[in-house]
Amino acid sequence: MSLLLAMPLLLAAVKPKFRVLAFYSLKVEPDHIAFAQNAIGFYKAMATKDGFEFNATTNWDRLSDTELKGVDVVVWLNDFPQTTPQKAAFERFESNGGGWLGCHVAGYNDKFTKWPWYVDFLGGGVFYTNNWPPMPAKLIVDDRRNPITKGLPAAYAAPANEFYMWKPSPRVNPKVHVLVTLDPANYPLGKKDLLTEGDIPVVWTNTDYRMLYINMGHGDKIFDSDTQNRLFENAILWLGTTHSKSIVKAQ
Ligand code: ZN
Repeated sequence: MSLLLAMPLLLAAVKPKFRVLAFYSLKVEPDHIAFAQNAIGFYKAMATKDGFEFNATTNWDRLSDTELKGVDVVVWLNDFPQTTPQKAAFERFESNGGGWLGCHVAGYNDKFTKWPWYVDFLGGGVFYTNNWPPMPAKLIVDDRRNPITKGLPAAYAAPANEFYMWKPSPRVNPKVHVLVTLDPANYPLGKKDLLTEGDIPVVWTNTDYRMLYINMGHGDKIFDSDTQNRLFENAILWLGTTHSKSIVKAQ
């Protein structure tokens, strides 16, 4: 083959399938930093294998129109934006169909959160309580036909995590599609702080957006499960490769 003919193939080989920009913070709980660092390692290895670009930054000012140009998926590993320009840029990104994966404390919000758009984006659930210490738990995969949960069993044992309970449960929002739920058989879960009852979704999407929230993300055990790793892998691949706004309606 001549060099001229080979060129497009070479270009095709190096062009990433999609681009991910992950945000995280280092001035947060050590267990949340540990998760972020593990997640970055996990996704960097995956990016090499699967041919996408994965960059991570602690500079949340990169949530801007300029920086997000050409980015397909934004990931928040252990924090959320604090300034009005950062929040506004993210709202525009999402309203234009940008992909988002949020983990664990990235979805935290309470009565002090002055960002109604974000609470609505998450599906309306406000943080209520959690188990403590972090513990392993059995999770139920609600919808196994979705690309996010492809290859997952009907239930699996998740590594130790601090699971959040929300009020109201995001499931009551008709726009929310729940993919994974904490099995009530785990109750009571925790020692110091207990989860004792109620509906606790742990992975869901708001079908108005190309977004996915995964509650797992506390400590250095999260990537110890091949099953759960598949969920994290499916999530980024689907967010990165689907071009429809909603990850559920695209099926
Ligand atoms: Zn936590």
